[in-house]
Amino acid sequence: MKNKFYIKNKLTPIINVSGFMTKIGASITRNYNIKAAKEILPNFVNLDELQTLASKKISKMLKTEAAVITASAAAGLTESIAAAMTGNDLKKIYDLPNTKNLKNKVLIQSGHLTNYGAEVSQGITLSGAKILKCGSKFSCSNSQVVEKIKKNKKDIACAMYVVSHHCSHYDSLPIIDFIKICKKNNIPVIVDAASEEYMENFFKFGADITIFSAHKFMGSLTAGIIAGKKQLIKNIYLQNLGIGRGMKVGKEGIYAAIVAMEHWYKRDLKKDLLNQEKILNYWVNYLNKKNYKGINYQIIPDPTGNKINRLRIIINKNKSGFTPQSLAHYLERNNPSIFVRDDLIHLNHFELDTCNLKKNEHIIVIKTIDKIINKLKNNIFNRKINMSEYKKIAINNWLNWLD
Ligand SMILES: *Cc1c(COP(=O)(O)O)cnc(C)c1O
Repeated sequence: MKNKFYIKNKLTPIINVSGFMTKIGASITRNYNIKAAKEILPNFVNLDELQTLASKKISKMLKTEAAVITASAAAGLTESIAAAMTGNDLKKIYDLPNTKNLKNKVLIQSGHLTNYGAEVSQGITLSGAKILKCGSKFSCSNSQVVEKIKKNKKDIACAMYVVSHHCSHYDSLPIIDFIKICKKNNIPVIVDAASEEYMENFFKFGADITIFSAHKFMGSLTAGIIAGKKQLIKNIYLQNLGIGRGMKVGKEGIYAAIVAMEHWYKRDLKKDLLNQEKILNYWVNYLNKKNYKGINYQIIPDPTGNKINRLRIIINKNKSGFTPQSLAHYLERNNPSIFVRDDLIHLNHFELDTCNLKKNEHIIVIKTIDKIINKLKNNIFNRKINMSEYKKIAINNWLNWLD
């Protein structure tokens, strides 16, 4: 990959088959979003007006009352919870994270307290709120939610529902049922759907507000998009006078998010799906010819209903002679560095996602996989990586940064 940017800055070139991961820059920022940022950056704007524009345009597309742009989905999560606790009372807003005299509990299913790079629970408690877990470690039922509400009703500020592949192993109460119970009890529901393509659906389910990431599917600048009930959206905007200040979104993030949404709803879905299918077929044909021992593969649909199929590579280390963690690790160490989707790698498989591939990179990906497999089989690498080492390496990358 002869990309001047990497050479000039001595940075490692990356091919992303992991999906939309913050750690490597989320997505390929699309040209129309870059253009939007360029257009607004040299100019002053009244942010109230700009956010009004965002609200008007985005709520029309999503068929909701209002919308607001935040620094990120994670920031939006904290600010939404804050808004549910403070309402439009400025004194309460200035006083956060002190929630002593407020309804401050956030109802959430245990399995939704997941980690998207940081903990959902910390995103909630950062506002000063307290977490009210319902359900058991593996599942949550209707009656468990009802019971929890009954016992804590006077303290509940809002409920939260997380839609994410990170919760797909958890037997959640379906979103429609969860929202229905909350509605019956007048509890506003905040949906975190940061990584979902079909944004408009959540309002059909009755969500009061839903949170999305602008820098994931839509390839915009880093920002969060929150849409839903006007009063809550207004109260989220007010958090900019308090705890939201450190989570400020710039004018360029706001304007690019508007443009990104407009393009998103005009995209050529057919073409995108065809491209995805072509790449997956290419990979499958390639692997079919190689017929490696101990390696299986499967096309897996996205667990939360995005129109994405991925190639899952499943490794039986007793037959292949190496672990899936070793393969993923050495792919990442390669130049260009290849990042695979590894959130389920403890189950001995990882996935390849086509969403962020540039022209012909899919060929480099599969040829590099072949190269690394052969090196692993021939014991060219001196380190064998198991799951606990794989995790340790990831954490040490953080701890040893700049060392
Ligand atoms: C990515 C993600 C987030 C964080 O989104 P950012 O916009 O990067 O802060 C939060 N929740 C879920 C479910 C996500 O997938």
